Amino acid sequence: MIFSQVELAPADPILGLTDAFKADVREHKVNLGVGIYKDESGQTPILKSVKFAEEKLLATEKSKSYLGMEGVEAYNRAVQTLLFGAEHEVVSQSRALTAQAPGGTGSLRVAAEFLVRHTDSKKIWISNPTWANHNNIFSTAGLDIAEYGYYQAETHSLDFDAMLADLQSAQAGDLVLLHGCCHNPTGIDLNIAQWQQIADLCLANGLVPLFDFAYQGFGAGVEEDAQGLRIVANTVPELIVANSFSKNFGLYNERIGAVTVVGSNSEQTVNAFSQIKSTIRASYSNPPAHGALIVSTILEDAALKQLWHDELQEMRERIAEMRTLFVASLKSAGVSQDFEFISRQNGMFSFSGLNKDQVNRLKEEFAVYIVGSGRISVAGMTKTNMPVICAAIAKVL
Ligand code: PMP
Repeated sequence: MIFSQVELAPADPILGLTDAFKADVREHKVNLGVGIYKDESGQTPILKSVKFAEEKLLATEKSKSYLGMEGVEAYNRAVQTLLFGAEHEVVSQSRALTAQAPGGTGSLRVAAEFLVRHTDSKKIWISNPTWANHNNIFSTAGLDIAEYGYYQAETHSLDFDAMLADLQSAQAGDLVLLHGCCHNPTGIDLNIAQWQQIADLCLANGLVPLFDFAYQGFGAGVEEDAQGLRIVANTVPELIVANSFSKNFGLYNERIGAVTVVGSNSEQTVNAFSQIKSTIRASYSNPPAHGALIVSTILEDAALKQLWHDELQEMRERIAEMRTLFVASLKSAGVSQDFEFISRQNGMFSFSGLNKDQVNRLKEEFAVYIVGSGRISVAGMTKTNMPVICAAIAKVL
């Protein structure tokens, strides 16, 4: 008997909340935990561009034969264009190779497994705070974790001095996890000058950036949101990107993302990529096709691509509208505390500053579910649920 020794796993801090939400019978309940975009009617619709691409695929797909370990070639090319732009030198110099992988999570895990097994990099620096699953993914893969300061709670702003000071103490070969845009959970990103400073520090001290790019297009726009990544790619010889299309294509359950390795020359890139593929072979052999074919079908067709850009803009603008409305509605609900900082945050989340007790009261007394860190998914707010949410927050403050 071996299972008698197994202890019950603790509930996941984010997905466990969804389970509790589902079990809640109160009709006015609101789930602002997990980062899923909802439209004004509270639904998570399939994008029209995705539906059109699927129709096209249904009519033209000829085989369900295996893909290669690296997935759909046209998809991998399209990913590089989104990440680096059409003309970037890491692409033209053949220094970047991309493998399709299952979502942002799968991409991060493939990257971490590769780094642990095939390089001397054993330590990764992650921001404090960060997405709850980072710690989980990297420690499970066998990386040591160190934290760099990122957020100053009193001013609700970036603590760039702490970030620099902590990363100054990193050793050559250490990895630095950077959120490409829309930092999760704080919604606070580096500006252009700060990106360049981090890139220079990585170059000077031999640190290797690992980008987690899960929200391209949810900040200022598809190109604008890639600026940090491109600045770093212009500066350092080596980096890895793990990107996801869960949010910006609404392809959450298709599990579609990619891991891109950039090396200092094409030969080293080919070698590193061969081990990315061997990591994939030992994990799931080769990826599922559907999500990648949807994305490449959209990005290779000018009209579908434009439609996707429009739909992404609509999502981005609705979230921005909810952010402004949230700040105003808190005021109208009688909250005297200044929540203006929420309007300066980027992406799907608002880092509210609510403490664990307040978060717990929101759930227990008002059926409003947010993550324990005080992270609220603004993308789940609507004009209809806003008054309920703000009245509840006013009561727990
Ligand atoms: N990184 C960050 C920062 C995220 O917020 C998420 C999703 N919540 C992911 C990665 C993982 O994305 P996916 O669902 O595609 O695995």
